[in-house]
Amino acid sequence: MHLLDEFNRHSQGAVELLDPKAVRAAVEQNLRQLARYSTPGMPVLVLAVFVLAAVSGDLAVHATRSTLACVAILLTGSWRWYGARRLLRPEARLSSKDEMFFALGVLSTPLVWVGYAASVVYTDPGGLSTPLALCFSAALCSSALPTFGLWVWLCLGYVLALNIPLALLGILMGDAFGWGLLLGSVFFMAFCTAQAKRINSALWQGQIDNLVLDAKSHELEDAKLAAEVANRTKSEFLARMSHELRTPMNAVLGFAQIINRSSEATETLRAHSKQIIESGNYLTSLINEILDLAKVEAGRITLELSEVDIAALSKSVSDSLRAALRGGVLLNFSVEDGLPRIQSDPIRLRQVLVNLVGNAIKFTDAGRVDVDLGVEGGEIHIRVRDTGIGISAADLGHIFDPFVQVDQSSTRRYGGTGLGLPISRQLVEMMGGRILVESAEGKGSCFTVCLPLARPAED
Ligand code: ADP
Repeated sequence: MHLLDEFNRHSQGAVELLDPKAVRAAVEQNLRQLARYSTPGMPVLVLAVFVLAAVSGDLAVHATRSTLACVAILLTGSWRWYGARRLLRPEARLSSKDEMFFALGVLSTPLVWVGYAASVVYTDPGGLSTPLALCFSAALCSSALPTFGLWVWLCLGYVLALNIPLALLGILMGDAFGWGLLLGSVFFMAFCTAQAKRINSALWQGQIDNLVLDAKSHELEDAKLAAEVANRTKSEFLARMSHELRTPMNAVLGFAQIINRSSEATETLRAHSKQIIESGNYLTSLINEILDLAKVEAGRITLELSEVDIAALSKSVSDSLRAALRGGVLLNFSVEDGLPRIQSDPIRLRQVLVNLVGNAIKFTDAGRVDVDLGVEGGEIHIRVRDTGIGISAADLGHIFDPFVQVDQSSTRRYGGTGLGLPISRQLVEMMGGRILVESAEGKGSCFTVCLPLARPAED
């Protein structure tokens, strides 16, 4: 069985997720690794034959046999080495011929070793050659498990090539030692076969998991790109539609105002036109906010930077909203002395402050609203604190999401669109700042706009 077949056998369930090119590349890489890992084992085998020939005295007693074994191990070793080189060529592709050549080279070396070792043990069973032969064989067999673990039949072939001749030798000897050798070889073969299968599964599973993860992360990347494109398209569409809706809305409001102010209009007509104006104003602010959010998301808003007296701007916003205070709520405004001017977009900054101070007033039925300005940690902090209804910890994480309003019930007491905070946050982030929020349900909220101070060069 070839390496690619091994991959397919293990990857059953994951096949449709994987790119065939990536699979092929991974299998080629594995084959090269096998070739690389098999190379250090070769000198050990060659050395094993030499050591056995020399230490057992076989070189002196059976010079022809020993010499033949040495020549054979050098020849098969070269075959294996050449096979590995072929697989390691940079231009090498998965080719069954190359795989076969390499695999047969790998299997020929232990056969030469064990053939020679068996014949030495057979002629001198009680001598030093027996423990030497068995130790070398066991060591070679164990080292084959991790080295050839990815290619299960090569691994099993190696294990069998080393053990079957020893088992046959045991039968041939037929004495107590021989039966021991047979039993030992059979047990060792069974153990190594089970281990080889386990190692093989674990190695492939790890590789397949990695490939699946890679494929999934590519899929996620593609989905993210598609979602970004879809979001941009949606924002473009909303920006265009909102713009188109504003023009007829202006006409509706204009005519409703004419009717409302007309001396010929009856009381009923005035009341109806007032309703049209109120609903129209609400619709216009909704359209404006959708347009703003769409523009920010589509990256179509650019800040018009100029030097801003932030204290004067915040005071003007607070004063313009005082009329909306209800039930004796106080609006207090304070500025730290010597507050520096900053580079910002005054129109967009006003929009953010109108939203935050407007919300504080809107959601506060009793108590006070405080607007404080100061410098902290190299930033200007504009803090809008109120003693209003507050926001629960569970809702606090969502108030900056578009269209989120904490109280969604049909009996909702407060108007609004749920777009003010997301727009404000995006605008402040474009200015290089951030909005922080703290709140306790039933006690009040505190929104802080943190803006970087202008750099000295820009002052
Ligand atoms: P809206 O137009 O509804 O005010 P925003 O995006 O400005 O939209 O605010 C989103 C929601 O966050 C509000 O509907 C409200 O539930 C909650 N919220 C914002 N500011 C305050 C505040 N100062 N006190 C209590 N709740 C607030």
